[in-house]
Amino acid sequence: MENSSSEFNSLVSSLIGAEAIGSYIAGEMVSGDGAELPLVDPASEQTLLQFADTNAEIVRASIVSCQAGHKQWADFSAQRRGEVLAQLGRLIQRHAEPLARLEAITSGKAIKAARAQVSAVAEIFRYYSGWTDKFLGNVIPVPGGQLNYTLREPLGVVLAITPWNSPIYLAAWNVAPALAMGNSVLLKPSEVTPLTALVMARLALEAGMPAGTLNVVNGLGKTIGDVAISNPIVKKVVFVGSTQTGRAVNAAAAQRPISCLLELGGKSANIVFDDANLAQAARAAVIAACANTGQNCAAGSRLLVQRGIYDQFVDAVAHAIVEFRIGHPLDESADGGPINNRAQFDRINRMVEMGISEGAKLVTGGVSEVTGQGYYVKPTVLKHVNNAMRIAREEVFGPVVVAIPFDTEAEAIAIANDSEFALAGAVWTRDVARAHRVVAQVNAGLLWVNMYRDMHVATPFGGNDSSGYGRSSGAECLYEYTKTKSVWVPIAEGC
Ligand code: NAD
Repeated sequence: MENSSSEFNSLVSSLIGAEAIGSYIAGEMVSGDGAELPLVDPASEQTLLQFADTNAEIVRASIVSCQAGHKQWADFSAQRRGEVLAQLGRLIQRHAEPLARLEAITSGKAIKAARAQVSAVAEIFRYYSGWTDKFLGNVIPVPGGQLNYTLREPLGVVLAITPWNSPIYLAAWNVAPALAMGNSVLLKPSEVTPLTALVMARLALEAGMPAGTLNVVNGLGKTIGDVAISNPIVKKVVFVGSTQTGRAVNAAAAQRPISCLLELGGKSANIVFDDANLAQAARAAVIAACANTGQNCAAGSRLLVQRGIYDQFVDAVAHAIVEFRIGHPLDESADGGPINNRAQFDRINRMVEMGISEGAKLVTGGVSEVTGQGYYVKPTVLKHVNNAMRIAREEVFGPVVVAIPFDTEAEAIAIANDSEFALAGAVWTRDVARAHRVVAQVNAGLLWVNMYRDMHVATPFGGNDSSGYGRSSGAECLYEYTKTKSVWVPIAEGC
């Protein structure tokens, strides 16, 4: 279990098959010639493989190939596009177990979670396969004897840039709706988790997608970002990642200008009133903060607790968090794996230290040791936190929950909204009217009542303010991937 490298090698050869890892352009693996980038096993800190960074010429070639792929894909009937996407979903499901294991080894995600996400990927393609022939234009009743109707047309080539925390899931989440609407996609996965995207693109070809419809370019953001965003063939950027990089991507896109869909960071408030089912809320608070070992944009990382139950509830969360089992990604009983990479591991430790130095009290967890044998962190609860502290304001992206007391409903709402982020959150109360009052006033793209974390591709997802803009799922996101053409035709006599 400690060394997954032999299983890793056999998964790479069976799922990807190529000698060297690079970019996947129209069905060909194209190696870069830049700096060697290591793929490090988060559970052992050993290098699993190295691949060369790409270059501007390869990025441009991949975009030209996407343009050719788009011409063919857009010529498919809507029904045929749907069939290909459904087939891709079936192929993902057929390879689900090896894909989940490759995802777990390279991202550090616990195998149970990796399996659930790969299944969700198959479901995402199935869901959008049903939309290809159902997203319709309108006939508009204009005065004056003319027929006016709208066409919804694909944009062309979409650039999708994704992070390392849920690699294949976030790739599918953003690629599938773009493809469903007849666009081609250039997918740029994180340089630390480049592999499962390659498998997805290979299976897309096998499913019947024309070559170039889904290309993958692998390398550093700084090598690929500006070259791709400034290319006139690219018509849209969907970016999932940190707020800092999102701002740079947004600024580059604004130069052309082309539109972006930005899914960025969060610091979501999980609000617990004193009349809530506290046992249920405490268990959910742990999952809210620790799922995917806290590397989750929608994590409930700010726990707002009504003062009368504050100590009792924080203790309950601290007891429950110890039950959250961090283990090797391939351990069937692990709830969470190691942190994906050293930089993020160090950041989590720094943030915990900073919180304590700001005056927060460590209830459980704390700074994790550097062992040289995996980026394992301790789920951590900090109390006596106020919302002005940096630990309450900045995204940690690790299993760290800060407990903030409040007295009244109005104060809970004010604290929840006192954040640059506005992605998700929850309210726990048995008072139905209060639940709806709070939901109506909290600034977030997604709120749960008496639950945390459930999501589905059919519902819209996305944030406001520094958490980004646009909605990346459900029927709503299909507007992101089409442009409207308004057509006028005189049909009345003498018109
Ligand atoms: P990141 O911003 O460092 O990187 C994201 C992607 O951007 C990577 O593929 C990276 O190579 C690329 N990139 C880096 N510099 C670039 C540049 N100049 N131009 C273009 N691309 C560039 O983020 P990360 O560390 O990989 O992921 C963690 C972050 O992602 C967290 O902040 C998390 O909240 C966020 N996230 C958000 C969502 C959401 O849906 N809101 C989902 C998952 C993760």
